[in-house]
Amino acid sequence: MDSRTVFDLFASTPLFFAPQNTFDDQAKKLLEKLPRLNASDLTALGHKDNNCSVCFVPFLAIISEEETALAMESPAHPIEELGVTRLSEKWQCGHVFCRKDLVKWIREHNDSCPMCRKSILDPDVKETPGGVRVYGGTPELANLYRNMGINNVTIIPNDARGPEERPAASTSSMFS
Ligand SMILES: [Zn+2]
Ligand SMILES: [Zn+2]
Repeated sequence: MDSRTVFDLFASTPLFFAPQNTFDDQAKKLLEKLPRLNASDLTALGHKDNNCSVCFVPFLAIISEEETALAMESPAHPIEELGVTRLSEKWQCGHVFCRKDLVKWIREHNDSCPMCRKSILDPDVKETPGGVRVYGGTPELANLYRNMGINNVTIIPNDARGPEERPAASTSSMFS
């Protein structure tokens, strides 16, 4: 197996690149990847006439505030806190919020959606008292872990994921 293949296998398992894989590590990655929605994204999602469910400001008003700020040389608020965003990762619920509220929510160590409480953290790699469980892993990946001397890793194939193996609404009670 060449190193490129090894890299590809590990690329889907952030565990070894981020040995801690703590809430802060995951939250940082989430914050970096939050999308920036524009008015046509909102229309496509059916949210054009909706308000942020946290601050009740209409999404379109938030987007015009963002556009005004982007046109200014020194906007009153940091750009990262402006505009509208969405919990859009494949494991997330897809709910839409103003970026300011969602960024604050995640920075305050909340690990679930403010609206529906579905987990916002990647459920594919999960630390449990009995070790680390990796969902959707292959037998090849299991062998790699063993070759590295890591034996407390359980690989759970996606098609073997029963109801009890599905990620719970919240991945952890530590932060709630
Ligand atoms: Zn808001
Ligand atoms: Zn949600």
